[in-house]
Amino acid sequence: MPASPIKLITFDLDNTLWDVEPALLRAEQAQYLWLQQHRPAVTRKFNPQAMRDFRVTHYKQHPELAHQISAIRISAVQAMLLAAGYDSDNANAGAQAAFDVFMELRHQVQPYEQALDVLQQLSKEYQLGALTNGNADIFKLELGDCFDFSFSAEQVDASKPLPDMFHAAMSAAQVDNHQVVHVGDNPHHDIYGAKQVGLFTVWMNSGDWRWPRGEPADEEISKLQQLPDAIRRIEAKLA
Ligand SMILES: [Mg+2]
Repeated sequence: MPASPIKLITFDLDNTLWDVEPALLRAEQAQYLWLQQHRPAVTRKFNPQAMRDFRVTHYKQHPELAHQISAIRISAVQAMLLAAGYDSDNANAGAQAAFDVFMELRHQVQPYEQALDVLQQLSKEYQLGALTNGNADIFKLELGDCFDFSFSAEQVDASKPLPDMFHAAMSAAQVDNHQVVHVGDNPHHDIYGAKQVGLFTVWMNSGDWRWPRGEPADEEISKLQQLPDAIRRIEAKLA
């Protein structure tokens, strides 16, 4: 049997390997509680919704931080602390400490059923890479043991669907685009983005969504257990 033409599988993280929303919700609540205890003036001025609204506005006002999701979170809290009357030392330290609390909880995710088994199995045959627009660090999780490398939008200062992260992955794995399958949940960031640079694609559609429009992925799965077969079908078409 000839060697597989596919050498590298890249994975989006949030909502591809786990549901991110519950973790984000808990992380924001924990951050708010920390602020309530340690910088109470800011939570008297901003309720949780007002904090989210402030962050959205802050994001729009700082296009230079468009791909720096952690920096945006920190600087938004910093600005709210200043607005609540804290001096800059207290605002800086408070924003950083609150962010540390957020990040701790943000990483308490529940991987999808059999995620570890599937990744362990695939890692025996392929290089695996993580490509995220978010700020999860796969190497903080047990799943990270299966991965050869990871890139984030923050590191390359460009979010998917921009090509930078895909190029970084190909260069890290020393492979060409036709040797890569990208797996992700977001039709635009993951599927359109990966197709633009000529990668094969698998749409992780855990919510049973309808494909929005545009060229569909090469394969669609609703559970990670279906991924090895989807990869094999891609390989079969190439044989
Ligand atoms: Mg995602």
